[in-house]
Amino acid sequence: MSRFWSPVVHKLTPYVPGEQPKLTNLIKLNTNESPYGPPPGALEAIRAATDDTLRLYSDPTSEGLRAAIARAHGVEMDQIFVGNGSDEVLAHAFHALLQHEGPLLTPDITYSFYPVYCGLYGIAHEPVPLDDAMRIEVADYLRPCAGIVLPNPNAPTGIALGLGRIETLLRAHPDRVVVIDEAYVDFGADSAIPLVRHFPNLLVIRTLSKSHALAGLRVGYAIGQAELVEALNRVKDSFNSYPLDRLAQAGAAAAIADREWLARTTGKIIQSRIRLTSGLRDLGFEVLPSQANFVFVRHPDRDAAFLAAALRERSIIVRHFRTPRIAAWLRITVGTDTECGILVDALGAILKQNA
Ligand code: PMP
Repeated sequence: MSRFWSPVVHKLTPYVPGEQPKLTNLIKLNTNESPYGPPPGALEAIRAATDDTLRLYSDPTSEGLRAAIARAHGVEMDQIFVGNGSDEVLAHAFHALLQHEGPLLTPDITYSFYPVYCGLYGIAHEPVPLDDAMRIEVADYLRPCAGIVLPNPNAPTGIALGLGRIETLLRAHPDRVVVIDEAYVDFGADSAIPLVRHFPNLLVIRTLSKSHALAGLRVGYAIGQAELVEALNRVKDSFNSYPLDRLAQAGAAAAIADREWLARTTGKIIQSRIRLTSGLRDLGFEVLPSQANFVFVRHPDRDAAFLAAALRERSIIVRHFRTPRIAAWLRITVGTDTECGILVDALGAILKQNA
């Protein structure tokens, strides 16, 4: 508490980011980064942009990057908004599009930044429980609300919704924005981007942090009809008119253009996910059907906090949430096959030791 703080700051409950350890000799499976390096063309573009032009401001409209996104997704430039990571894009979406009468609906088990933005922008929030199989039940989202925000696939469950279900939401709320956060969509789920031309109330948000292996560059974007993008630009231009630096714009544009690299690396991660899932099931874990680059698992008779701590002693870090409803679960990022093998062997040894 401080007498210098604005009243709103006293009330904030900020997001707690996943741990980014200083040690480098760890198997890091806790924050869903890619185990592979970024597309080589992205690194080249960043090196090429590292010159005297850094004394100049970056392009405030990120035109080159938006052109690359437009080509990759077959949309118009005025349907694209870019920001510093999808976290920033989400913040602008909450600010610009979701402050309306009624509560904002999100799943109760989901990306925990959403309630934080509700607190920041004074939006009433109603968490909607997942069903017993940890799935989003679309029928529970058909009531009056200020808008809907859903990750697809959901995090941390990894379970994806089909596009038909998303269309049901969009049709039920013609006057409210439905935000589909596609942070993990490239690992096997269907993207809602083709629906954008039919639904003026749809905003799809993407990141380069996961499938493009560029979490450190901080680039995310939104795709929606121009009317929604204009609102996001109004907020951006009232907040930070040069959101993306020169290196991020150059690197992200090159990364997005390399569709072949994307297909190859996401394909490898999907294959590793299949092997990791069966390795964990062989050890007795329940593994939810994931379409993401992580799996959400629990053991019928082992405490998840204990397992996470025992793995850490073996220099492997995974994510354990203290939230009571999911405290029995671990979220494990899909690493390389070697990393996944070491993880499964370590869990096997821990389970045996404590049998
Ligand atoms: N959405 C979801 C569902 C996420 O899990 C994350 C990563 N923590 C983000 C958005 C934000 O990713 P970034 O800001 O790195 O783009």
